[in-house]
Formats: sequence, C-alpha cells, structure tokens
Amino acid sequence: MGGYLVRTGDRIALIDAGYGPYHHRSISAGGRLLTSLAAVGVRPSDVTDVMLTHLHPDHIGWIARNGEAVFPRARYRCHAADWAYFMSGTSGNPLAAPLVHPSGKGTGATWLDLLSGVENHLEPWASDERLLAGVEVLHTPGHTPGSSTIVLAGGQRTLLVGDAVHCPAQLTEPGLCSTADVDPVLAAASREALRVILADGATLVGGPHFPDMSIGRLGRPGGCWNPVFTDPAAAAAAAELALPERIAP
Ligand SMILES: [Zn+2]
Repeated sequence: MGGYLVRTGDRIALIDAGYGPYHHRSISAGGRLLTSLAAVGVRPSDVTDVMLTHLHPDHIGWIARNGEAVFPRARYRCHAADWAYFMSGTSGNPLAAPLVHPSGKGTGATWLDLLSGVENHLEPWASDERLLAGVEVLHTPGHTPGSSTIVLAGGQRTLLVGDAVHCPAQLTEPGLCSTADVDPVLAAASREALRVILADGATLVGGPHFPDMSIGRLGRPGGCWNPVFTDPAAAAAAAELALPERIAP
C-alpha cells in the first residue's frame, strides 16, 4: 500500500501519506515514502497539497514528525467530518494508540499527535468540490465518517477510492464489508454509488489496498474487475500518477 502523487499545473499533490516509519503488526516493510518521492524528484518542500482520503493510521503516517509538518509548504486537506470524529476522543479511537518504532521502542507520542502537528496547515473540505485543476473530491462515507474518493478528472477519469473500497471484489459485491468499516451499511451504500459510476466501463479506479496498488476498471457487461495497470511505473506514465510508497505485505 502507499500513496499517489499527482502533478497538475504548478501543484504537486500527495494523496494519502502511508504508514510512516512505525511498527505495525501486519506490515513488515514500510517507511519508504520520502525515499520514493526523492526517486521521482520530489522533495518534501515541493509538495503543495496533502489530500487524505481518511484519517486511519495507515494513511497519515508521514504527515508530521516530532510535532512538525513533514511537508512544510503544503495545505493539508481532509473531510471535516473525519477531523471532528478522530479529534473528539471517540472511544476505541485507533489514533489514541502509541506510535512505536520498528524496534518496538515507544516514541512517546500517539497517532493523534501527528494530526496535531498539521493542525495549523489544515484546510478541511466539507462538501464535494474541486480541489485543484482536474482534481475533485467525492464524499464516500461509511469506512469512516469523512471517507472520500479523489477524482482525477483532467484526462483519463480515475477514481482513487481510499479505503471506501479495500479490495476490488467489493466493487462487484458492494455489500462485502471490511472489519474496519465504522458504519457498514453506509459503507456499502457508498460502494454501490461508486459501482454505478464505474459501470460506464471506462472510468479507472484504484485504491491503496488493491493488490500491488493496481489500477483498473469494471468490464462490460457484468462488471468484472479488470486490472489495467499492475505495474506502478506503467500506471504512472499512463495516468501521470506516481505511486511513491509501496509497502510489502
Ligand atoms: Zn487503509
């Protein structure tokens, strides 16, 4: 899993920020996002926009370090409903967990401290809107209250669905829920709405948890999932996307 890099006009936008350089019970090799960005010629200070599909730990890991924004010149964007939900001390909040180094040693901070580190850079969205030239946002709640799909509308229309869809099978069976869906009924309704959009058979769709971050489309008729780009480099070249962080399963 990882994030997406989108260049549009003079803007360089990062969509989701990976797990960060921390320990996780099921992710064995993370923490490469900054190195991967450097490999495509992007320094942290070059990033103008950080768009977060939602605020679960595996999407916010690189937003801040030691209380400071990792991308110092960027506007940090997410749905206002997610910010309110996760910052309000909801019981069972996964962001209240401690941040732990890969060695197992604690950092003395929690995931919530990452959000606090970017609070002064935050420009939340509260409705479907145009974020940048060729980049729009569509509210697809249920996985979390503010879960959103980023729509690349400037060329080949592409939906980057965050965790509204964890697995391509959920596009053809929208009722299949992830155990992490906060509101399973609402999440299923959002996936059905995405399925209807994708039924044109032309719109591309990708997500950070799709196998190898593949990007594909639903075929016609019947709507089977067809990966179009399984090689991130090919996807990047074709869709002007860079896939900067790929975390081994
Ligand atoms: Zn996730």
